[in-house]
Amino acid sequence: MLHGVAAAPGIAIARAQLVSHATLEVAHYDIAPEQVTAEQARFDAAIATVRAEFEALHERMKGADAPAEFGAFLDVHWMILTDPQLSKDPKRTIAEQLCNAEWAITQKMNELVEQFSHFDDPYLRERADDVVQVVERIVKALMGKPSDLPRQSGEHATALVAHDLSPADAIHFKDAAFAAFVTDVGGSTSHTAILARSLRIPAVLGLLNARQLIRDKEVLIVDGTRGVLIVNPDERVLEEYRLRKSQIELERTKLRRLKSAPSATLDGIDIDLHANIELPGDVPAALDGGAEGVGLFRTEFLFLDRGDMPTEEEQFEAYRKVVKGMGGRPVTIRTFDLGYDKDLHPEKILGERLQSNPALGLRAIRLSLAEPKMFQTQLRAILRASKFGKIKLLIPMLSQAHEIDQTLAAIERAKNSLRGERTPFDEAIPIGAMIEIPAAALAVGLFLRRLHFLSIGTNDLIQYTLAIDRSDEQVSQLYDPLHPAVLMLLAHTIASAEKVNIPVSICGELAGDPTLTRLLIGMGLRQFSMYPAQILSVKQRIMQSNYAELAPLVRRMLRNEEPGRIREQLDKLNA
Ligand code: PEP
Ligand code: MG
Repeated sequence: MLHGVAAAPGIAIARAQLVSHATLEVAHYDIAPEQVTAEQARFDAAIATVRAEFEALHERMKGADAPAEFGAFLDVHWMILTDPQLSKDPKRTIAEQLCNAEWAITQKMNELVEQFSHFDDPYLRERADDVVQVVERIVKALMGKPSDLPRQSGEHATALVAHDLSPADAIHFKDAAFAAFVTDVGGSTSHTAILARSLRIPAVLGLLNARQLIRDKEVLIVDGTRGVLIVNPDERVLEEYRLRKSQIELERTKLRRLKSAPSATLDGIDIDLHANIELPGDVPAALDGGAEGVGLFRTEFLFLDRGDMPTEEEQFEAYRKVVKGMGGRPVTIRTFDLGYDKDLHPEKILGERLQSNPALGLRAIRLSLAEPKMFQTQLRAILRASKFGKIKLLIPMLSQAHEIDQTLAAIERAKNSLRGERTPFDEAIPIGAMIEIPAAALAVGLFLRRLHFLSIGTNDLIQYTLAIDRSDEQVSQLYDPLHPAVLMLLAHTIASAEKVNIPVSICGELAGDPTLTRLLIGMGLRQFSMYPAQILSVKQRIMQSNYAELAPLVRRMLRNEEPGRIREQLDKLNA
């Protein structure tokens, strides 16, 4: 049994199919001076082959309904391939060191990977994997090996086992219908992980040496939910997993039937279930999950894979695409939450500003207010898109009254500039705040008096309440959504908003956890926003709940400060 990163949920039972890893097999040999030109030509031919492969993939993608991320990821690989460091420098090495082309390119790869490993930003650090993936293709072309993945063979389900898989490899998944994949490298934010989730193929990544340990055709159980891989299981374990797999499938089929069912409690209280999205390409998943709107569009993801600001036009197109895609359902667009853990912060915007503690530093609305040009560009784009559907404007990380006032003034300025140009927009666009700093939750009156709606960001609210870095796995056991202080802040915010009739939702991960649904409904929450795949499970829980019965139990629970008792009461609530 091997443990890795649980990258995409689900269980698969399949036979292993190993993918060869060319860069690990590269030989080093000397060439004679008169062979240099021929060796360089061989290198150029390999680059041309890979270029042609990428072009063909691009063409194939146009016809296929591939996830939107494919295009972006292929573009990154295209940029890496055409960078002179990879496409030109090795030719100099061939001439200077009189070595074979495979050796020259892998030397360059190692040098680049070393440079990438020094980046502070984990997102950029992981791009070293993209360099390796591109070089892998070049080396395969040099060795005359096919780059494309093996086809699914025979009647057995097949799990791909690779040292690493690139997005270009992954595009074949759709046609080849692989049951699962496992790799030695890759974290949960790797492109491969993101793609696995969009393709809904169970995947376990970061297994370190799975490819060496596993032999072709061995039977594997891939448990992508728990990040576990079992090689050559005995009949008893197989039986257990077959059962678990069919339970998951049955559960999924049952849940699908709830897609068009109204989301309401047994005693008739309507609960709005919305989706969190990161890119316009997530809209189909939101609709497929049965979302009645987008409760959180994390626009900072428009910076993914680029180092500069998306222009007003690009942003306008992205926002309009989402609004139109949602077909009249409300879309809550959050202004950029850049500068901290999104790992997307473009150096061009943060510049040289050193921050000793970015989580408490210039992030989110603070950065937007410090960069008025960037903020105005985004506000104008959002406002322009508001003409095409129901948009709500959400501001991240507000903490004080003067910040809210400054933000409202900036929005007014953007509106005025559009009025001056006679560009239409929704004059009555609702403006809301993320409540994700304890100060905001405690002094929520400041927000309720100035804004139209609230959305509680529990991911950050918990981090700042408990002083637990949400991205540091060393303290993750202390990250407790049921800490009495967290529950008090949630209950206070929800009750205060309810009193003055201001809509409030929760858009942190907590909203998608069905074991907390009854607790939140009991607190009075009527709007949830979550990862699309969770919506139907939460809806199922809502449909089995009775608010009138829950409310007094939750009130009693909130009077408690003992974690053990709180858990007991939660179990009772869920029984
Ligand atoms: C949150 O903080 O709970 C939230 C929804 O925002 P993000 O996860 O993007 O910080
Ligand atoms: Mg947040």
